[in-house]
Amino acid sequence: MTKLPPRSRKVRILATLGPASDTPEVIRALFVAGADAFRINMSHGAHEDHAARIAIIRSLEKEFGRPTTILGDLQGPKLRVGTFKSGLAVLEVGAPFILDRDEKPGDARRVNLPHPEIYAALVPETRLLLDDGKLVLRVKKVSDERIDTVVEVGGTLSNRKGVNVPDVVVPVPALTEKDRRDLSFAVEQGCDWIALSFVQRPEDLAEARKLMGGHGALMAKIEKPAAVQRLEEILELADGVMVARGDLGVELPPQAVPPLQKQIVATARRMGRPVVVATQMLESMIKAPTPTRAEVSDVATAVYDGADAIMLSAETAAGDWPEEAVAMMDSIAHSVERDPGYFARLHFTETKPDATTADALAEGAGSIVSVVGASAITCFTLSGSTVRRVARERPLTPILALTPRLDTARKLGLTWGVHAVRTKDIGNFEEMVGKARRMALRHDMTQKGGKIVVLAGVPFGTPGSTNVLHVATIRGDELRGRE
Ligand code: PGA
Ligand code: MN
Repeated sequence: MTKLPPRSRKVRILATLGPASDTPEVIRALFVAGADAFRINMSHGAHEDHAARIAIIRSLEKEFGRPTTILGDLQGPKLRVGTFKSGLAVLEVGAPFILDRDEKPGDARRVNLPHPEIYAALVPETRLLLDDGKLVLRVKKVSDERIDTVVEVGGTLSNRKGVNVPDVVVPVPALTEKDRRDLSFAVEQGCDWIALSFVQRPEDLAEARKLMGGHGALMAKIEKPAAVQRLEEILELADGVMVARGDLGVELPPQAVPPLQKQIVATARRMGRPVVVATQMLESMIKAPTPTRAEVSDVATAVYDGADAIMLSAETAAGDWPEEAVAMMDSIAHSVERDPGYFARLHFTETKPDATTADALAEGAGSIVSVVGASAITCFTLSGSTVRRVARERPLTPILALTPRLDTARKLGLTWGVHAVRTKDIGNFEEMVGKARRMALRHDMTQKGGKIVVLAGVPFGTPGSTNVLHVATIRGDELRGRE
């Protein structure tokens, strides 16, 4: 087993895999440089490519003896125009343009739009955004077969470009046929998280949850204005969220995104759900070995906001500098987390505990560690919920999660400040304290004479029963005779 010390950084790094990162060497380099979790993007590539990458991640997990997180990201109901006779058309400002149900290749006057649901949802004066918002059409007249528009922002439109309709809730199913196939593939492959794109309503999550059949955790990607409006209800039903700034910044003006990022991160933190800030974080590193100053500030802002994880997309999936992008993100995060002002900024978001024993102990752990000067908070957990409660308090002390369940350990890879370890189950109090001491020592989280705070639930093995908080002192002989 190759030894790698626990990350000293709190925020987690989620790296998307793609053609630029599909060899064991590159994926290993990303992991060593700091990637805690990997995203498999179902919008691109075939199942066999994804399966090969998943196998590589699982073999890394064995090599380093560290549970590693895999997120299967479903494309969702992404709307697209059809094709053009010459592959593209130039749309002039002020000119009429028609979208219709006719599958014939289009031209500068019309193109196919194969999604019948949109025809019913659109009304005059709503907008259609094409190709990530580069072109804008204003709807003038609409029937079941045809949408008459006027070009408001012109440009070149080519085959199968994306269409966003930010002004209406589109009655499309949350999961397309492709999403269903991808979801069952992701579950078969043992993905730890499934992300659902273009969530509009809380109900959208229910269907995915059913198809997951109890496997994996469910992440809602917030990229539609309709989802922002119902954020708390969506968070209630999801295990985590992504601030999917790419599509969000198309559906809404770009200047609306920074305040929304703050709002979504704060709400998710209050509700104890892991939150990922995503997209274009180090975009220029797709082509260059160093980022722009503005990108560095953007990553830093997400870390100061207290996001659980920050994500790389094309930077690692299709860029020329995937390893450098992870290393850069890692150093930006370290720089922010070393800032003496970091803790105060992080705690600008208040996370009030719920009126439960588990929450009271999680909150208490945060102040006990600073009073007794403990070097780690060790949590025994089955489902991971105790650990998420502790992480919600954002203590500066490392959190060591001990769980007999590998799936729980893997899911925790997107939770702020957590180092998760799979261990054998414990039977009694002495065993619990002994194991906590040994594990904290073995994972470099304490030393002889140090103190650790131990959280667990008694009776052992009952999920959601956290009711014990113990402070243990490390003697230094804990590892003797037991490797
Ligand atoms: P995507 O999601 O990369 O799957 O589009 C993220 C985003 O929209 O920001
Ligand atoms: Mn998106």
